[in-house]
Amino acid sequence: MFLYWNWGYFLYVALPIMVLGFIASSWVKRTYQRYSQVRNANGLSGVDVARRILSGAGLSDVTIQVIDGELSDNYDPRTKTLNLSRDVATGTSVAAEAVVAHEIGHALQDHQGFFAMRLRSGLVPAANLGSQAGPLIVIAGLLLSVFTGSVFGFYVAVAGLLLFAAVVLFQLITTPVELDASRRALRLLAENGVIYPEEQQGARRMLRAAAFTYWVALFGAVLTLLYYASLVFGNRRSD
Ligand SMILES: [Zn+2]
Repeated sequence: MFLYWNWGYFLYVALPIMVLGFIASSWVKRTYQRYSQVRNANGLSGVDVARRILSGAGLSDVTIQVIDGELSDNYDPRTKTLNLSRDVATGTSVAAEAVVAHEIGHALQDHQGFFAMRLRSGLVPAANLGSQAGPLIVIAGLLLSVFTGSVFGFYVAVAGLLLFAAVVLFQLITTPVELDASRRALRLLAENGVIYPEEQQGARRMLRAAAFTYWVALFGAVLTLLYYASLVFGNRRSD
């Protein structure tokens, strides 16, 4: 594992990803905290907002479920369930509205058979495998070529790279899916009379902060792939 945990990896990959990840998550938390203090003018709870938007958008087959955790809200396309964290479900804030509307944005994507969303769901197993096994296979291939001097190790490393590329592809598709859900969210809030114009700004800020986390995840995946590619191909040149 000496190649994996070297200084180059730490300085050029792990550190920037850590720093950006920290900035992204604190931005989301700060914005969420700020707008969870701002009561929405309608006084609607997250669940009320969800019911109103779902019926307005004709999504009567979606069930609402309250789950544990903070900002763990999600939409599950397999069971057509809108999972809302307790704070969001009971909250009557602008933040809660924005989160609910974003997740219903995903429900709407699902309902309309949005291609990128289907593609993304299909890529989940490959991306999971790629993020776990990809780097290990690259390292194994590199060690093999160092110790045996055979070209076989190089091909193993390239196979590891291709596997990890599934993670990049997954993030590449995730980002537009998320941005689209947030665009739909703002429209749903406005169309269903849930949000007042002066609250739009807050919802938009919330969704913008959330969007940044997806850009960071994409950047991190690309950076990691480039790093491993430089190990594989840099190593080859010096042969
Ligand atoms: Zn989302």
